[in-house]
Amino acid sequence: MQQSQKPLRIAVIGAGIVGAATAWELIKVGHAVTLIEPDEPGGPQAASYGNGAWISPASIIPMSMPGLWRKVPGYLLDPSGPLVLRWTALPSLAPWLLRFLAAGWTGQKVEHTAGVLASILGDGPQRHALLAEEIGRPDLIRRTGLLYAYRDREAFEEEGLAWRLRKDNGLQWRELESEELRRREPDLSPGYRFGVLVEDGAYCADPGAYVAAIVQAVCARGGVLVRAHADGFVLANGRLKAVTTDRGQVDCDRAVICGGIRSKALARAAGDRVMLVSERGYHGVIASPQAGPRFPIMPSDGRMANTPTAAGLRLAGQVELTHVDAEPDWSRVEILVQHALKTYPALGPRERLKVERWMGHRPSTPDGRPVIGASSASPDIFHAFGHGHVGLASGPITGRIIADLVAGKDAPVDIRPFAVSRFSRSRWRMASGAT
Ligand SMILES: Cc1cc2nc3c(=O)[nH]c(=O)nc-3n(C[C@H](O)[C@H](O)[C@H](O)COP(=O)(O)OP(=O)(O)OC[C@H]3O[C@@H](n4cnc5c(N)ncnc54)[C@H](O)[C@@H]3O)c2cc1C
Repeated sequence: MQQSQKPLRIAVIGAGIVGAATAWELIKVGHAVTLIEPDEPGGPQAASYGNGAWISPASIIPMSMPGLWRKVPGYLLDPSGPLVLRWTALPSLAPWLLRFLAAGWTGQKVEHTAGVLASILGDGPQRHALLAEEIGRPDLIRRTGLLYAYRDREAFEEEGLAWRLRKDNGLQWRELESEELRRREPDLSPGYRFGVLVEDGAYCADPGAYVAAIVQAVCARGGVLVRAHADGFVLANGRLKAVTTDRGQVDCDRAVICGGIRSKALARAAGDRVMLVSERGYHGVIASPQAGPRFPIMPSDGRMANTPTAAGLRLAGQVELTHVDAEPDWSRVEILVQHALKTYPALGPRERLKVERWMGHRPSTPDGRPVIGASSASPDIFHAFGHGHVGLASGPITGRIIADLVAGKDAPVDIRPFAVSRFSRSRWRMASGAT
């Protein structure tokens, strides 16, 4: 086993994919790791349970793109689209939304974000394959490639900016004409006549089981799982002594905040105000489907992942901007199911389908970049949250970055774009050009 110079007691707060992968990287180099998590690791409370399961080096395109602001009224008024914004949440979301729109205001800003995301997504499939191998579950990561399905080549070309950015960042793909698309995916509606196959892409066959298996592997190596809710830090002269929880203190030398959408309060306790909202998303899983994709597909007109998982065909997507604790709107799952019925005509009829429903929280920053790095209150407390739409894919590299920071080594990528300081008022003024 590779050893760090000095083993430390490290508390990792939150056991979603980011916390689990971080705990694994830390325990591998010899640290004493305590995972603090109130619920079952890999359970439905976490975004890591219900996501689209895609590990895509192509997911570098930020949500906020030039001209998006023109579509905002439609998002407020059309309840059936892939993105919905609830009126009641508008006042509390406004500061985040303004900064979100500013982040994609110009092509230059979007290019920058795409480059930053490419740095943490480019080798995601390889990192996951290695992690799955190390924990003894190589079966969970499938390197089959990922397919983007379009109505025709024109529809693909309408997304020219996105694919140009992918190309500029080194992504390679294969274009499939109608016949080849049909050969690969015989159940796909003939209405899709063009495909883009990202051969390097991978997916996870069961994201919840994967997280649980990583945590199990951490515990098998001597890590400890404490079932508690973390709520603060004990510091002495700026150095960390313990994490406080509803079940008492966890004494430690370092702590990592990996609480997904719930990280905001912990970041505040570590001296940092962050802009983090839930882009709520949904999935429906169709058990034992009669038809569907052989491999993961994203039908471009549906903006959703169709992934053949262990439990059945998972349809994951939708972005709902509203209060984090608002009741789920299950009609969003029905939108996903109805789209799938059109995408795979042999799947239906609807009344025969048994659909498991889930809603979860993408922990999203307005600039689409996670928050990774030391906190303001103490060099011993690290942030590792805010991975938005790409937290599954970028979980392992986040763990690697944190392990390197703890060791005082250079991270594998430039981490300046992930610094929490970008949320400070003066930085915001400079970045946005506001006065
Ligand atoms: C519909 C949907 C589809 C998605 N599709 C994809 C995809 O295909 N590919 C991809 O890469 N990403 C995808 N994502 C995003 C991805 O799921 C998230 O970015 C990722 O799961 C975030 O992981 P996390 O570990 O930061 O947070 P979570 O998975 O939410 O885990 C956080 C954990 O912290 C615990 N916690 C919270 N507060 C505390 C506390 N105070 N003390 C202790 N523990 C605490 C929680 O109980 C939870 O278990 C999708 C998300 C959604 C919603």
